[in-house]
Amino acid sequence: MTQINSVNYSSALLDVVIIGGGLVGGLTALLLAQGGVQATVLDAAPILDEEKTLAVANPRVLALSQATIHLLKTVDVWDNIARQMPYTGMQVWNKNGYGEINFGYASEQFPTAEQSLGSMVEPSVLNLAIQHKMLEQLRDYRTQVKVIRVEQGVNCWIIKLADGTELKTKLVIGADGANSFVRDQAFIDFDILDYKQAGLTCAIRTAQPHQYMARQIFHPTGPLAFLPMASLNSDQAEHWISIVWTLPDDYADEFAELDDADFCQLLTHESHHMLGEVLEATSRAKFPLKARAAQRYVKNGLALIGDAAHVIHPLAGQGVNIGCLDAAILCDVLLHDLKRGVWAHEQTLKRYEHQRKGQNDAMMHSMSTIGFIESTELFPLVWARNFALKQVEKQPFLKDQFMAQANGLSSLKATRYAV
Ligand SMILES: Cc1cc2nc3c(=O)[nH]c(=O)nc-3n(C[C@H](O)[C@H](O)[C@H](O)COP(=O)(O)OP(=O)(O)OC[C@H]3O[C@@H](n4cnc5c(N)ncnc54)[C@H](O)[C@@H]3O)c2cc1C
Repeated sequence: MTQINSVNYSSALLDVVIIGGGLVGGLTALLLAQGGVQATVLDAAPILDEEKTLAVANPRVLALSQATIHLLKTVDVWDNIARQMPYTGMQVWNKNGYGEINFGYASEQFPTAEQSLGSMVEPSVLNLAIQHKMLEQLRDYRTQVKVIRVEQGVNCWIIKLADGTELKTKLVIGADGANSFVRDQAFIDFDILDYKQAGLTCAIRTAQPHQYMARQIFHPTGPLAFLPMASLNSDQAEHWISIVWTLPDDYADEFAELDDADFCQLLTHESHHMLGEVLEATSRAKFPLKARAAQRYVKNGLALIGDAAHVIHPLAGQGVNIGCLDAAILCDVLLHDLKRGVWAHEQTLKRYEHQRKGQNDAMMHSMSTIGFIESTELFPLVWARNFALKQVEKQPFLKDQFMAQANGLSSLKATRYAV
């Protein structure tokens, strides 16, 4: 086991242990540290090798909302992200219909922060920046840790590690992703919806530049997203795109096996030549798509955040964004009550659950419904979706509502992290 910045706390009762130091767990630890609370962070993964991480293009990017970017700025991570690609517009349309909706605009120049709607960042490049900041700011951050048990004791939780270490804490935060061990150990049930689909992702180079626009076509088989991504070198910098192609499992298996030339040809055709020919495709990867929703987010002295609490369909690119909002709301209620001398009380944790679960469940259901409606060929639904897209396109007010929902800033309004 590698221990980094580790203090021997074995006999002490810790204030908080975060299990999972990915983007959501890491952000939580940094927001707490800023509020004067040092968390112990345990992560199964190793510290990333900077040179190796930056030398390859990830097969996928995360579309980060303005709220997530604001939170990353708050903890001084944003400016240390090695590469990212802002976008100024979004275009969504149906393959077999006339419905189309546009947000923002295409840009010829690299956008300023004020012009961009959000930014595309590769997960490993983001994790690298988060890890560096945790190493700098946290006193007890341990990587390559195997947690073998999480159990409730008297007024505390006991965490057992494979090397025999036992930690006692007043609060456990489960930020350990979709297959959360913490969730299982706390006997928190979850609902699961298997879409029987996979997300096929890869980095591609196109003949025409992306003009800082994210594009998504709804095919009967599922959406195909073209997301502008930062390139590894300045040559053809505006021609690199990350695709997320949602497909039924058997199609995804077949397309994943195609040789590069056939795959590029297929993508050129399925994207309606929107950026001309697809010239190159690298780093293909496949992710099974399943929605998961924990039936509760909290128990006495324990909270779930991020994918440990909810996994949603990637078509809206919101998974990590709603996880970062969980982190902000949880830290806000914890730090608010700490000022009154109360730490991680049951009522404090319930306020977090109350503020996040309804919103996250609603987002999850709407993504599942859109996924169904957009991939159906049933005539009334095809008509309804085209009509709905056209109506929204004609109504600036509705489009503003959509954007306000997507940028996440309204969820931070009543918190210490308000913009
Ligand atoms: C194809 C695809 C495209 C996506 N696109 C977007 C997008 O555009 N925008 C967006 O917002 N979201 C997107 N998402 C969702 C996003 O990737 C997730 O929501 C996000 O990674 C969840 O972050 P997390 O920190 O909760 O979990 P994770 O990123 O899974 O991190 C979990 C951490 O916990 C650690 N861990 C796991 N188990 C243990 C254990 N037992 N003990 C200790 N540590 C442990 C891991 O090492 C890891 O560091 C996409 C997802 C997919 C599949």
